[in-house]
Amino acid sequence: GDIADDLLRGLGGLGSGLTEAFSDPVIRLGVTGLSRAGKTVFITSLVANLMDRGRMPGLRAAAEGRILSAFLQPQPDDTVPRFDYEVHLDELTGPAPRWPESTRAVSELRLSFRLAEAGLFGGMRGPRTLHLDIVDYPGEWLLDLALMEQDYAGWSAEVLTRIEPRVEAAGYMAQIAGLDAAAAHDEMRAKALAEGFASYLGAARAAGYSDCTPGRFLLPGELAGSPVLTFAPLPKPAETPRGALWREMERRFEAYKAMVVKPFFRDHFARIDRQVVLVDALGAIHAGPRAVEDMRRAMAGILAAFRPGRTGWLTGLLGLRRVERILFAATKADHLHHSEHAKLTRIMAALMREAKDRAEFAGAETAAMAIGSLRATVEESVRHEGRVLDCVRGRLLDGGREAAFYPGELPDNPAALLAPAREGATQWLDADYAVMAFAPAVLKLKPGEGPPHIRLDRAAEFLIGDRL
Ligand code: GDP
Repeated sequence: GDIADDLLRGLGGLGSGLTEAFSDPVIRLGVTGLSRAGKTVFITSLVANLMDRGRMPGLRAAAEGRILSAFLQPQPDDTVPRFDYEVHLDELTGPAPRWPESTRAVSELRLSFRLAEAGLFGGMRGPRTLHLDIVDYPGEWLLDLALMEQDYAGWSAEVLTRIEPRVEAAGYMAQIAGLDAAAAHDEMRAKALAEGFASYLGAARAAGYSDCTPGRFLLPGELAGSPVLTFAPLPKPAETPRGALWREMERRFEAYKAMVVKPFFRDHFARIDRQVVLVDALGAIHAGPRAVEDMRRAMAGILAAFRPGRTGWLTGLLGLRRVERILFAATKADHLHHSEHAKLTRIMAALMREAKDRAEFAGAETAAMAIGSLRATVEESVRHEGRVLDCVRGRLLDGGREAAFYPGELPDNPAALLAPAREGATQWLDADYAVMAFAPAVLKLKPGEGPPHIRLDRAAEFLIGDRL
C-alpha cells in the first residue's frame, strides 16, 4: 500500500543520499510543456550544443572555457526509457533534415560534464564532474495534478461547463445529451463515451487550447484501451444506483488518480531540481484570446504543482524537497524577426507574473524568456507597398519551397493580450503565421556557421549555470 511505498521510498532516498555524498553531484532537470511545445527539439539541440561546443556564449562556464568535456553516460534509472538523442539528432542533421518524433511519455538522458574550477587557484584543483539528468515528460501529465483535488462529480460538472460553448465539444455534448447515467453500466457505451471525449480533447488541443486533461487521454502509451482510460465526464443523475454507468465512471476516475497520476508524481516529478516549461505562446496568440486565456490558466496550474507548502498528499511525497529554479520559455522564436523578440519576452514575463499571482506562488527562482531551440529561418526585410516589413525566410515543410513570410505583429503592451476585452480584442499574428510551418534547417554547431539557436545558451545559464 501507500504507506509501505512511501516508507520504502524514504529509505531508498536515504540510501542514495548517502552514496551521493561520496560521489559526483547530480542535477535533475525536468523538461516539460504541452505536446508540440518543442521539448524534443529543445533537448536534442541543448545536448548537441553542449557536447559539440556549439555557440553558447551566454553560458558563462562555456564562455570561460571551463567545460572541459560533456559526454553521455548511462542514466541512473534503469526502468525509464532513454531519451532517443542519437535518432533525433540524426533526423535533424541528416541530408534532408526532418523534425523528430515528439515526446509521448517520460524519458531520461544523463549528460556528464568535466569542469575546470573557476577562479585564480581553480587550476590547482583537479577537474570535477557534474551529472545532468534530463527528464522529459508531457506537460499534460503535470496538469493532471488538478484532478487530485477533485472528485468525479465535481470534475464532471466543471469540465462540462467549461467546454460546452466550444465548437470542438459539439460532438461530445451531443453524445451525452439525453444520456441516462443511472442506467446499468455497459462497456461498449463507456468505450464510446471515452473515445468521444478523447477526440474532443485532441480537437481542442489542435485548436490551441491548453486544458486538455486527463493527460493520458492524449498520450496513453501502454495504458491505451485500459479501464483507467475508459471514462468521461457525465452530468450527474438524480440517483446513482449500484451498477450504474455513473458509478463505474466514478470508480475509474478514482483509479486514474491513484494508479496513474500519483505514481507519476512520486516517481518522476518529486525528484526534480530545476524545471523548464516550454510554451508555444506564439501558437496560442495566433489562435486568439480564448487560447491565450487558456494558456494562462495552464501556466498557473503548472506553477501550483511547484508551489512549496502545497497541501495534502503532494507535500507528503515531496517533504522538504523543492524545485530551485523554474524557467518559462516561449519556443519557436525563429518564426519572428528579432525586432519582435523583446515583445515576446515581455509577454512571457507578464504571463508568468500573472500565473504566479493566480497560483500564489513564491519560493523557487523563476524567469521568462523567448527562445528558438533550432533556427529554421533567416531574417529578411521586404519592401511592400511603401513599407519595410521584417520577414523571416525558411523552407516550407509542405513542398519544400523556400519563401519569406511576414508573421504579423505582437502588441507592444502585453495587457492587450491579457485583457483583450478591456483593450479592444484584436487578432495578433494574423498575417502569414498560419502557413509558417518550416522544415528544420541543418543543425549548425561550428563557429561561423551562424547562430543555430536563439538564446538557448541563456536558458542553460539560468537553469544550470550556477552549478557549472
Ligand atoms: P514536443 O511534443 O514538446 O516534444 O514537441 P517537439 O519538440 O516535437 O516540437 C514540435 C514541433 O514544433 C516540431 O516538429 C517543429 O515543427 C516545431 N518546433 C519545435 N522547436 C522549434 C524551433 O526551435 N523552431 C521552429 N521553427 N520550429 C520548432
